[in-house]
Amino acid sequence: MASAVTDSGPRVVVIGAGIIGQSTAYYLAHAGAAVTLMDSDDGPSPTSRSSLGVLTHAYGADDAYSSFYRDCHALHEPLSALLLQETGIDVGWRPLGGIDLAFDEGEAGTLRDWVDLNLSRGAEAEWLDESTLREAEPGLTTAALGGARFPQDGRVDPVRLGTALRVAAQKRGTVVRTSTTVTEIRPLDGGVDCHLAMASGECTESYDVAVVTTGAWTGELAPSVRVRPIRGQSGFFSGVHVRHVLRWGGLHALPDGDDTLVGGTVDEVGFDLTTTDAARQELMAWSGRLFDPAPSLRQLRAGLRPKPRRGRPVITPLETGTLFVATGHYKSGILMGPHTGQVVARWIMEGSPGRDMSPFTIAR
Ligand SMILES: Cc1cc2nc3c(=O)[nH]c(=O)nc-3n(C[C@H](O)[C@H](O)[C@H](O)COP(=O)(O)OP(=O)(O)OC[C@H]3O[C@@H](n4cnc5c(N)ncnc54)[C@H](O)[C@@H]3O)c2cc1C
Repeated sequence: MASAVTDSGPRVVVIGAGIIGQSTAYYLAHAGAAVTLMDSDDGPSPTSRSSLGVLTHAYGADDAYSSFYRDCHALHEPLSALLLQETGIDVGWRPLGGIDLAFDEGEAGTLRDWVDLNLSRGAEAEWLDESTLREAEPGLTTAALGGARFPQDGRVDPVRLGTALRVAAQKRGTVVRTSTTVTEIRPLDGGVDCHLAMASGECTESYDVAVVTTGAWTGELAPSVRVRPIRGQSGFFSGVHVRHVLRWGGLHALPDGDDTLVGGTVDEVGFDLTTTDAARQELMAWSGRLFDPAPSLRQLRAGLRPKPRRGRPVITPLETGTLFVATGHYKSGILMGPHTGQVVARWIMEGSPGRDMSPFTIAR
């Protein structure tokens, strides 16, 4: 049996190089672990590639989940500055602000209440009447009656964020192994054995700790963690420029270079990553309703959101000290990824997560 990387820190294998795995590897490497990051693929995960990267503001109360969410949101600005220093990569963190749009009086009433609730919980929020909305977003059709603006909404580029985290981790010694599928994990006394399948053959490697960050595929390695793949599709549109994150009817539009990125659709079709005509039609109809003239769809992408059984991510040790899982971030993995990685790294290196993680156990 081959022995894994050796170093003075614990030898940790992070399985799955999506945003959660890349974040975990980054913080582990910072803390002095000898990290190996493995993925069955050899490029950015399809989920990150199709993700919008919206960082919706925090508006919750003071419970453990809301405070975790708030810290996830707050981490992005300083992390983006640090990653720029460490790697020279601009991860595209931008405090764009978000606007929820109203197209009829019913929607306007609901959004006004939403503004009041946010203000009462300490979030920044304001109601924009029709003419203020038009000044803020000149490309919108005249059908929009107004909107609720949330200045603390932001955006980060998911692929650039993942790349910067991985490059920074590699600079601190992380070994990245692509086209390597972990087919089995066997917890042992004081460690784990991982069975690997690669083009060159199969082998078993030993590590002190394994972290499963395989997103929608988590059930294959950790059957006690119930996560379902929910396909989401997003498209790059040309011919319209937006300034904010615009939201309506469950979809978003936001600026991405010279394009406007619109998404994401929701359907459950197992592990199917194909893009569909139905999604194309849905995104085009939505854009046609919001913008005048209607923009044209240039490119469509699909990813698989990992949907947990009980609505919240699972971030927990499975075997005390040697096997961890961090998955099920569903629609908020880009927002929650970095802080999730930070907490898991602290848990492994210091023996405690440093905060109340009871909302994220399997049996919660
Ligand atoms: C259309 C769309 C829009 C979205 N918009 C947003 C948004 O605005 N804001 C936000 O915060 N989130 C958003 N999300 C959600 C976010 O993208 C996901 O929650 C996040 O990317 C999940 O990351 P992950 O690392 O858990 O999983 P993944 O990115 O899927 O990574 C898992 C990795 O594990 C690898 N893997 C699987 N099995 C194995 C194995 N056995 N061995 C080795 N490797 C393995 C896979 O190849 C994959 O690379 C969106 C998602 C979609 C699809």
